[in-house]
Amino acid sequence: MSAQIILNGEPENMVKTEAAVIRLDNVHKTYDLGEVQVHALRGVSLEIHASEFVAVMGASGSGKSTLMNILGCLDRPTRGHYYLDGMEVSQLSKVELARIRNRKLGFVFQQFNLLSRTSALENVELPTIYAGIRPEERERRAKDALARVGLADRAHHYPSQLSGGQQQRVAIARALVNHPAILLADEPTGNLDSRTAVEIMDILQRLNEEGSLTVVLVTHEQDIAQFAKRALEFRDGKLRRDEAISKRLLAREVLPTLPSLEEDQAEENMDAR
Ligand code: ADP
Ligand code: MG
Repeated sequence: MSAQIILNGEPENMVKTEAAVIRLDNVHKTYDLGEVQVHALRGVSLEIHASEFVAVMGASGSGKSTLMNILGCLDRPTRGHYYLDGMEVSQLSKVELARIRNRKLGFVFQQFNLLSRTSALENVELPTIYAGIRPEERERRAKDALARVGLADRAHHYPSQLSGGQQQRVAIARALVNHPAILLADEPTGNLDSRTAVEIMDILQRLNEEGSLTVVLVTHEQDIAQFAKRALEFRDGKLRRDEAISKRLLAREVLPTLPSLEEDQAEENMDAR
């Protein structure tokens, strides 16, 4: 299949001919609450290609998380089609969806969702167990993933011994450990101070550039969206805007302009006590 997309007719991203890693075709999602039906997505069509970095924006209740749940194979559309890597996944069983999720997708959430009595290394290893990877290989992969987020030296720390930013980096390592094609992040910086948020964006930008990971990130903050390459805006369950980020920020350039890490971390550690 050769997919074509034209974004707002802007010259720099006129036509993309590669097959999309994500393609939604008129996707609807209705939550049936008995007496009421909530029409959370109302006919969403879009394509996302390999190595894109997409920010999903919109007010609370506009359908962002519903979209992410569908993209992440955590939920199925009520109507319409979802093609992941060219394969129609809208009608797969829960077991099949779980397999795809484990192999192709990595997830990062606002609440880091780490197991508290488990070391960073063991947290990162967890998805490799479900993927049936051999024990020797698991630890190697988990260490490798921790190194990619700059936490090689924190492998044996527990979440309570790590700052918020470090915990989110462990969560990113966990999302990377099965070598997914797509990283889905729902408000990953929502619980972090602004410098730490930019550090997380730095990691996501590096993974996107160096590892050619496709990133789809939900944020309601314009400042954070500026680090993406493309912004989608949802309103009332519909895609209202889809455009390239014109003045894209590079986190590694922004970081030196922000207050130092030490000051921030000292504060964070104080808060954690
Ligand atoms: P956002 O992430 O943009 O805040 P959501 O996708 O969470 O938006 O929600 C979109 C709409 O769907 C909202 O009206 C919300 O109340 C509703 N909704 C979300 N999840 C559920 C659910 N599991 N059951 C019923 N309604 C839901
Ligand atoms: Mg949400």
